[in-house]
Order: sequence, then structure tokens, then C-alpha cells
Amino acid sequence: MPAGEFDIIRRYFTRPKRRGDVRLGVGDDAALLRPPAGQELVVTTDTSIAGRHFPTETPAADAGWRALAVNLSDLAAMGAEPAWFTLALTLPSSDDDWLAAFSKGLFQCADSAGIELVGGDVTRGVLVITITAMGLVPARTAMRRAGALPGDTICVTGTLGDAALGLQLLQAGGDTGSNDARALLQRLYRPQPRLAAGAALRGKAHACIDVSDGFAADLGHILQASGVGAEVDAAALPASEAFARLAGEDATALQCGGDDYELCVCLPPAPVRELSLDCPLTPVGRITAEPGLRWRDAAGNEIPPPGGYDHFQP
Ligand code: ADP
Ligand code: MG
Repeated sequence: MPAGEFDIIRRYFTRPKRRGDVRLGVGDDAALLRPPAGQELVVTTDTSIAGRHFPTETPAADAGWRALAVNLSDLAAMGAEPAWFTLALTLPSSDDDWLAAFSKGLFQCADSAGIELVGGDVTRGVLVITITAMGLVPARTAMRRAGALPGDTICVTGTLGDAALGLQLLQAGGDTGSNDARALLQRLYRPQPRLAAGAALRGKAHACIDVSDGFAADLGHILQASGVGAEVDAAALPASEAFARLAGEDATALQCGGDDYELCVCLPPAPVRELSLDCPLTPVGRITAEPGLRWRDAAGNEIPPPGGYDHFQP
């Protein structure tokens, strides 16, 4: 017999307490959490809809990992340390195999980040996963989109374009079995939030955002919030070896295609050289006093910046 609502919660989403600051987790009308003195609570929500935010054929374990990882990426961008999360899950049916795999992927991601599930909701409908993640930062130290200054170096962690190219390969229905294709699909299905880099950049970066909608669009948010402009060297955008081998003519557009979950940070030039992170940090341009985004190709010619993803774009 398929599990009912309360069986689902008990079987798949109730585990022994992991953090001492959880006074009451899953099971009561609400959770009771104890944020430490001197820390600010950082709160973010992201919804993942099957067929819109992730392909419907996404394996259940990857859907679980990804739904939490995209929220952790927002905590990383603020420089926060993950603490607690809630899960509002809407399911078309009570499918034990799916739930077992989903919760396994979800908790793999949770345990890798030291974040604890403290509550949620289960309802019936099309597959929608909404997670609210909470983290902690020392008071008044969180990174924001505002704060970039003319002369700052714009840097990106890791590589851009892998997930967008992975999605393109998937949608083209071609062979996704090669090592390169698998590496790209791994970036799409299992994004690795840049939590350690975000924490290390806190106090050093003037502004930060995580790259979810696309590099050019997300940098645009920093520019708007900071009241500055930027020059970007498209040829400097960091690419993985798999991406370099498989991307064609539209490489730059793919590198602004979104789902990267890297960090875009604006730093005064000196700390860029001194920072030691657990991932590559690549300079790709600089902040200017003149507003607007100026984008240059490898030959130094100005080209129009690629757009980003917008759910309500007509
Ligand atoms: P209520 O009716 O009071 O909102 P529910 O019956 O929805 O409570 O949930 C019972 C308990 O199970 C609550 O503590 C709730 O936070 C938790 N819960 C519900 N769904 C989930 C879920 N998907 N993951 C974790 N905890 C959940
Ligand atoms: Mg409820």
C-alpha cells in the first residue's frame, strides 16, 4: 500500500537530530531553532518545478540534491553558513521508490553542507519542490549585491556554461554517454554550491551574487544594486575542458545560459591575488563608474551582452 501523508513524513523525512541548535525539528506544529547571539539569520526560498527548473527525466535523487543545492547557493552568495531548512513538497502520487531516492539525494546534499531539515509540508499536485534554507553570518558581515566600486575586479568561481550545455545535449536527444557529456550533465543535476568560497570571500568582496539565471543577467543585478557599470571580456569567461571540447559557435551564449551556481564577486584588485579558495577564481572584467554593461569579444570589439532567464519574459 502506498504511504499516506504522515507515513511519508515519518519514513522519508524524519531523522535523528543532528544539530544542537535545533530544539524541536520535524513533528510538531512548528520548529524551534536557537540562532547564536551575535549572528544574523539569512533566509532564502527557491521553488523547483518539474519541466521548468529541471528536466522531467531528472533522476529522483538528483532532483532532491538539486532542489536543496540551489538554495545553498543563495546562502553561499551571502557568505552564510548553512543551518536549517524546510521542505514543501507537492507530489503527483505517493511513490515509494521515488521518495526513497529523492530523500537520499536531498540528505546527501544536506549532510555535505551540515544543514538540517526541520519541517515542511506534503501535498498532492504536479511535482513542485519548495525549500526555505536558513543560514548564519556574523552580524553585519553578509555580502550583498550592492557595494561594488569602480575599479573592482569582477571574478567568477569555477567554470560557466557546463549545465546549459548539458541541458542542450539532453534536449537535442543525442548521445549523452561520453565522459564529457556525463561531466556536463553532472553539473546540471548536481550543482555544487560554493559555500566555502562564499565564506572565505566574506569581508573581502565588495559585492556578490550567485549565478543562477545567467552570468550577464546576474552581473546586471550587481550593477543595478551598486549603481555602477562594467566591462567584461567574453574570452576570459572560465570554461571546463568538457565544455571547451563540446561547445560550438554559441559558447558565449551558453556561458550566460544559467544554472551554473557559481559566485560572481567584485573585489578590490589586491585581495584577488592573495585569496586562497578551494576552487578557481577567474578575473573576467572590471567595474566602471560609467553605467551599463560593455561586453567585448576576443578581438576587443564591443558585442551585445547575452540575456538571461526570466520566467515572465513575453
Ligand atoms: P500542520 O498540519 O500542523 O501544518 P503537518 O501535518 O503538515 O502539520 O506536518 C506535520 C509535521 O511534519 C510538521 O512538523 C511539519 O513541519 C513536518 N513536515 C511535513 N512535511 C514535511 C516534509 N516534507 N519534510 C519535513 N518535515 C515535514
Ligand atoms: Mg501542514
